[in-house]
Parts: sequence; structure tokens; C-alpha cells
Amino acid sequence: MFSEFINTKEIKLIGACADELKQDAYIIGGFVRDIFLKRPNKDIDVVTIGSGINLAMLLKEKLGNEAHLSVFKNFGTAQIKYRDLEFEFVGARKESYDRNSRKPIVEDGTLENDQDRRDFTINAMAIGLSANVFGKLLDPFNGKEDLEKKILRTPLDPDITYSDDPLRMMRAIRFSSQLGFTIEENSLKALSKNKERIKIVSKERICEELNKVILSVKPSVGFNILFDTGLLHIIFPEMVKLHGVEIIKGKGHKDNFYHTLQVLDNVCRTSDDLWLRWAAILHDIAKPATKRFEPDHGWTFHGHEDKGAKMVPVIFSSLKLPLNEKMKFVQKMVQLHLRPIVLAKTEVTDSAVRRLLFEAGDDIDELMKLCEADITSKNSAKVQKYMKNFELVRQKLKDIEEKDKVRNWQPSIRGEHIMEAFGLSEGREVGILKNAIREAILDGIITNDFEVAYQFMIIKGKEMNLIPVKTD
Ligand code: ATP
Repeated sequence: MFSEFINTKEIKLIGACADELKQDAYIIGGFVRDIFLKRPNKDIDVVTIGSGINLAMLLKEKLGNEAHLSVFKNFGTAQIKYRDLEFEFVGARKESYDRNSRKPIVEDGTLENDQDRRDFTINAMAIGLSANVFGKLLDPFNGKEDLEKKILRTPLDPDITYSDDPLRMMRAIRFSSQLGFTIEENSLKALSKNKERIKIVSKERICEELNKVILSVKPSVGFNILFDTGLLHIIFPEMVKLHGVEIIKGKGHKDNFYHTLQVLDNVCRTSDDLWLRWAAILHDIAKPATKRFEPDHGWTFHGHEDKGAKMVPVIFSSLKLPLNEKMKFVQKMVQLHLRPIVLAKTEVTDSAVRRLLFEAGDDIDELMKLCEADITSKNSAKVQKYMKNFELVRQKLKDIEEKDKVRNWQPSIRGEHIMEAFGLSEGREVGILKNAIREAILDGIITNDFEVAYQFMIIKGKEMNLIPVKTD
């Protein structure tokens, strides 16, 4: 069944090179798994009984100039990039682990040794490339059956597999979320049991897997396992604080953890963007910190959007996420996430829409997606009403943008104009005037035209006892 995947010029050539060197070679791991899952994969891992580097060098020679070879002598591995394909070559190895590190002690081994050290049975399948085994599936742990049953199982005792390299725990959860597979019972127990071991894994590697969970079709699957096994408590404690319901005088609030997961799943239906998904995860992150019970109102979370925005850089930094414009985008989304909802609940005024457009700028569409995802009420009449109001907000946004162009608004009157008009140098008055002009435009008191804004500036300046410089 996989002949169409391996009967390619490049793969047959690897087999020929392996024969020439008299060392057996196999494709192993993700590429084999993805053949059965019908997922296109351009990363091809080749394991050989001998030197991976020698095999790669010979293949490079045969493929010619289009092939780009990199050799990593320290690791005994080599990589060839050829057209859109990426081949990794390594000699089969046997591994043993030291308790304090996920870096194993490595020695040469057989194909079976190499399959033993793989994380899951579905990732341990190999296909022969040498002439005597070309196209043969070598599947010692029934990975194919597990694929059909959609089960994630470790080849060896899960306790040992996860304890040896705890990153595999994150990988289990990631594959479960990505592929919709069930983690086999003993494996699931071993995740809880070995959760503390995750502490020896670098935050960067953890986050790489977490991002793959977030990019899956339904990330709540992965987050629920992370929570239930206790791993989330270690890798992302701020999110765990969202969990739970407090009841005072018979009044409870919603469980913000499950609400957040629902918002995340909802946003995945309209966006593939990792950072909008992060915004969904973090939109209510400050609710636990701002929670109050007010006898007249019940539960309130005043200011959770401001505090949440302040928490974003702290969380990004602790998870080793990038502290760049992506972080700023998430921060902006968290800061503004209540604004369209307020608009949808009340009568929508032009000036409120203009302000929102001004503050959200080019990210307004993303913000609207987040806010629509945030409606998780079980009361369908309520949902319908909000969604209808959102349509209204969207229409208003469009109308006002067409009319006033505030989305990427540059003030028509800049600091230089103010300084020139009143003979001022930079200082407080210039700031006050700039602010007054911007507010007047956003409130719809004046239009965003140079002449109109200029006249407004002169009047305001005079009110501040500034004297316009005469120009003839
Ligand atoms: P994806 O392509 O979706 O990132 P993958 O697992 O196929 O996932 P890699 O992370 O490159 O891609 O791993 C390639 C193969 O190496 C896996 O299929 C598995 O056999 C093995 N592997 C990777 N990481 C580990 C690990 N931590 N422990 C054991 N085996 C691993």
C-alpha cells in the first residue's frame, strides 16, 4: 500500500547507496506513521546499521548539486535537503538514561534497539530500503494496529519510557490532541505518576509541544489531559488558577477554566493563528486575581482585562514565548476583549465604534473573532441576541471605517504643526493640544481633515492663552 510513497527516485537511491555500502537502511518514525494516516510529510528519517554520515555523503554525491548536505559529527548524524524534502540520517542506536538528564548515553545498536527507544508504537514502525528488504514493514510493537484503533502506546513500560525522557509525556498529549488518539490506560496513569519529571525538560521544548496542542483542531482535548494528569499545574500554573467555582450566598460564578477551553475551541473554528489562540487562552487569565463578591451584584472581575494585559509579558517570559510583536498582539487582544461585547450589549454609538477602531487598528477583525468565540452562554436566545448585535457592530465598524478611515489613523495635525502655529518648542502644551484634537476626532466633534483640525487647534490653543504666530 505504501509503494507510491517509497517508489520515488530519491528513496530508491537511498536503498541503492545502502547496498553499495553494505549497510542496511530503513525509513523510520513519523514518515511511516503518516503514510498510514495519509498525512503528507516531507521529513524523512533514515536509520542505518552503520554510519549515517557515510550513507548521507554517498547519497549527496549521487543527487548532485541540488542536494545540500549538513554533517553533525558530534551527534553522528547528517541531513540532506533536496528540493522540498528533508532527510535525516543516523546510525541505529541503543540508549541508556541517567536520571538527571533527558540526554541518553548512546551506543551503536540494531534496528530493534533503535525501535525500542522510540516514544510510541505508531512512531516505531520502519520500512526497509535495502534490496533484500525493500518495501517491507518492520513493526515489532503492532503500531499499525494501534494506528487503526487510534491508540497511543509506548513500546516498552510507560513508566520507564516517560521517566527516561519526560518530553515524551508532552508528546503523548500533543499526539492525542493532534490526531484525536486515546492514550492507553497504563500510559495515562504513568503520565500522572511521572509528572514531576517534566521539570528536567527545558521550557522551550515544553512550549514547542504545547504550541502544537494549541494548533490542533480541538486543543481542549490536550489541555484536559494536561489538567487531569497534573502536568498543567507544573508547566502553566496561572491557567490552573482559572479552575473551580466558588459559591457565596448561593451564588456561583462560571468555571473560568472550562470557559477558557471552550473559547479556545471556538476560536479554532475561525482562525489558524497561534497567537489569536494564545489570546483566547489568556483573555480571562486575571479573573482569579480580580475576583470579588459584591453583596449587591454577586461576582465581579473588575479590571481583569487591564490586569490580564499586564500579566501577558510575565507569562510569555516564564513560558519562553517570544517577547516581540506577537506578544504585543496578544496583549492588545486581552486588553480589548470586552470592548465589542459592551458595544453589542448597548446601543452602538459612532464615537464608541470609532474609538474601538482606533485602538484595535489592523487587528480589529481578529478581535471580533475572539469576542464571538467568547460567547459561551448555554442560553441559546442570549447567544442569538449577542451574535445579532455583533453583526450590527461589524456593519458599524465597516461604515465608520469607510467614512472616517480611523483604522490606521494618523493625526492630520502633528506636533510640528502645533509648535509652528504657536511658536512653541516641545512640551506639555503640545501634548495637551495633540490629545484634544485626537479626542475631538474620535468623539466625532470634528472630522479628520487638516483644515478643520487646524481651526480646532487654533481655538483650543487660544483657550489655553496661547497666541498664534502671525504668518502673512
Ligand atoms: P511531527 O512530524 O508531527 O513533528 P514526529 O514525531 O514525526 O512529529 P519528530 O519530532 O521529528 O517528528 O520525530 C521523529 C521520530 O523520532 C518520531 O516519529 C519518533 O519515532 C522519534 N522521536 C522523536 N522524539 C522522540 C522522543 N522524545 N523519544 C523517543 N522517540 C522520539
